[in-house]
Amino acid sequence: MSTDTAPQQYSFQAEIKQLLHLLSHSLYQNREITIRELVSNASDALDKFRYVSLTSGQKSTDELKITIEPKKDERVLVIRDNGIGMTQQELVANLGTIARSGSLEFLKHAKGSGDQATDLSLIGQFGVGFYSAFMLADRVEVVSRSHKEETGWRWESTGDGSFTVFPVAESVERGTAIHLHLKEGMEEFTESVRLKYILRKYSTFVPHAIFVEGEHINNQPPIWLEPKSSVTDEQYQNFYEYLTHFPGQKPLWHLHLSADSPFQFHSILYCPESNLERMGFGRADHGLHLCAKRILVQNDNRDLLPDYLRFLRGIVDSADLPLNVSREALQDNTVFRKMQKVITRKVLDHLDTFASEQKESYFKFYREFGVILREGITNDFDNRERISALLRFASTHSLATSELVSLEEYVERAKEGQEQIYYACGSDQDSVLRDPNLEVFRKRNLEVLVLTDPADEYVLSYLREFKGKPILSVDAADLKLPPESADEKADESKKDEAKPEANSANMDSLIGLLKEALGEQVQDVRKSERLTESACCLVNAQGSMSTTMQRVLRMNTPDFEMQKMILEVNPNSALVCRLAELSANSNNHGFIKDCGRQMHANAMIQAGLAPNGNEMAARLQSFMMELAGQKSSIVT
Ligand code: ADP
Repeated sequence: MSTDTAPQQYSFQAEIKQLLHLLSHSLYQNREITIRELVSNASDALDKFRYVSLTSGQKSTDELKITIEPKKDERVLVIRDNGIGMTQQELVANLGTIARSGSLEFLKHAKGSGDQATDLSLIGQFGVGFYSAFMLADRVEVVSRSHKEETGWRWESTGDGSFTVFPVAESVERGTAIHLHLKEGMEEFTESVRLKYILRKYSTFVPHAIFVEGEHINNQPPIWLEPKSSVTDEQYQNFYEYLTHFPGQKPLWHLHLSADSPFQFHSILYCPESNLERMGFGRADHGLHLCAKRILVQNDNRDLLPDYLRFLRGIVDSADLPLNVSREALQDNTVFRKMQKVITRKVLDHLDTFASEQKESYFKFYREFGVILREGITNDFDNRERISALLRFASTHSLATSELVSLEEYVERAKEGQEQIYYACGSDQDSVLRDPNLEVFRKRNLEVLVLTDPADEYVLSYLREFKGKPILSVDAADLKLPPESADEKADESKKDEAKPEANSANMDSLIGLLKEALGEQVQDVRKSERLTESACCLVNAQGSMSTTMQRVLRMNTPDFEMQKMILEVNPNSALVCRLAELSANSNNHGFIKDCGRQMHANAMIQAGLAPNGNEMAARLQSFMMELAGQKSSIVT
């Protein structure tokens, strides 16, 4: 390490420069958050020191604390901790030269929205909270001594392009002191009354003592250890704000858990109001606060909850967890693994009750977080059944109400004799509803789940069945519809009288011609039982994926081969009847084959597939010519 006493100058990394510019020129009013951020850093530094001293066996006797020292006359505020401290290299790297992914994201975020008031308060979530110091100060000094060495170092900057770092000649206590040389007009941050107010507001649950002029500010009990009945709504809300740095936002729900056996733990879990992943923030990876007897072991534990519950925030405190082990060792710890199971089960229990007792609120929750929760179907074998009961879908029977339906409800109200659960998918609701495959379901009033997200289909095909009923796409070849009831049959025969129906010998010859025309393009051509209006549709051969699913796969994997489909033709459609009739005369065969090719192209378009455009244009052109030839130019 350099023993040179001359200050060394460093340039801030490019994005940090921009960030500092934004912060020091910001007109943002809520500058209190700087105190919250610096206290939170101090608390982290104390946690790190405690962890190091426990794991290295060198017990420290001094009380770990944060002191806030206002110096009114000098217009300076000092935030001091006796935590882990920073070496020269750490000061240089942590406070200015190492690019942080969050700085760019935060810049985008702050510039992206006109409402600076909400933006800047989120700074802590982007991992660049330290720099908020420049909202209050025009000069910042950081004096720090790492627990690893005897020399202290001073970092100093006015927040423009550069900072300096140099050794401190006199002895420095372990830890870090941030000296904020406050800007003009920021005198309020040297008023102890104001400071105490801010600290109570934001830092009540910081797990280390905070002192202002000798007064211990945050001596409230940790609410997760209290019995549920004695915790007020306001306390839950405050704790949520403390955990998330989301001032003023309410969680959708919270779950307060306590257990004594087979092991002891206390936990409060919160579900945020909105799913930031869906808003383009990237994967939620904040994790849970993990404590052992109130001592923070990790503040971003991502292993206690399965991935599909990663949106939850909260704390888990257990006396049965070992304190001084690495993350890897914790994973192998039996208590830890059992705790994972119990907590997951409790959350699923809670969701179950929530879904049945507060239907509307559950829809709201599901619309936000269903996309993450459903991952559990493929990832958590043990709980698959329980998660499947929590899934919700739009359905042909609930479109008018915008309610969502569970598989349970679907099965309960299914028709007598209905052995399968049906779904249809497409890019949006309208295109799903236009799918000719749905015609028979509509006619017979059979419920169909309407999926507009391919991942939902993936989840359902993974699930395969629910309560013993296979789940099938409406375009599957092996659909089994429930037998028609006596009423349906009577109704049917009345309608049938009015409907055309192709003679079966003609129909056979038509199908033969279509097979010849389409050749290798289809797996088969056959008479349809599922169409009532349309002339034809494409269905997927037994066991294969639905067309939508295949389309998605092809988009993502260029060498994915679409499976060949079956073209079904409707003997009750006027066009098919007429073509069947015409097939008796071999002079018509060329025309019928062309019609067959066009019917196939039409069915592809309806299924969201792209037929050969050139061939189709040429064919339509010749159809038009033929029709035009039959028209007369004489005005009658
Ligand atoms: P974050 O704390 O989210 O990582 P910051 O910009 O607030 O981001 O801080 C950057 C880094 O500087 C921290 O990760 C930490 O390593 C270091 N640091 C900040 N404040 C302190 C402190 N009081 N004591 C020790 N290290 C600190």
